[in-house]
Amino acid sequence: MDKLKERLASRGLKTTVQRLYVYEVLLNSRQHPTAEEVYRKVSKVLPSVSLSTIYNTLETFVEHKLVNKFQSEYGISRYDAFVETHHHIYSENGEILADYYDEELVQLLNDYFSKKKINDYEIKEIRLQIICSTKEKETNNE
Ligand SMILES: [Zn+2]
Repeated sequence: MDKLKERLASRGLKTTVQRLYVYEVLLNSRQHPTAEEVYRKVSKVLPSVSLSTIYNTLETFVEHKLVNKFQSEYGISRYDAFVETHHHIYSENGEILADYYDEELVQLLNDYFSKKKINDYEIKEIRLQIICSTKEKETNNE
């Protein structure tokens, strides 16, 4: 918990019990939970917490760049405590299957868009949604 406190403090955020638990839930999940999912987990340890407190806490984290928020294809907001640039692999139904880290790809995209500008817009970050289906496992019929 001390590490979490330090990270909150490094972003100029005061430590509250709610913030610690919300942040802990996000750090322990690579599933990119929704606010409701965070709420369900936090309310197990803090039964009096409200969903709006969870929303506010998440938004505060986003404002302080402690957490990334993004919309999945179906407009559902998801939260990610891993803020270094990475991409997401989605299944065809819009569910996130995995994080995808690829330094070379990040570099390639940055190089491409440093030469090719998008009119009227300034690119802040490029994150891909890679839609995949899982490969059928090859059966071993010997
Ligand atoms: Zn992610």
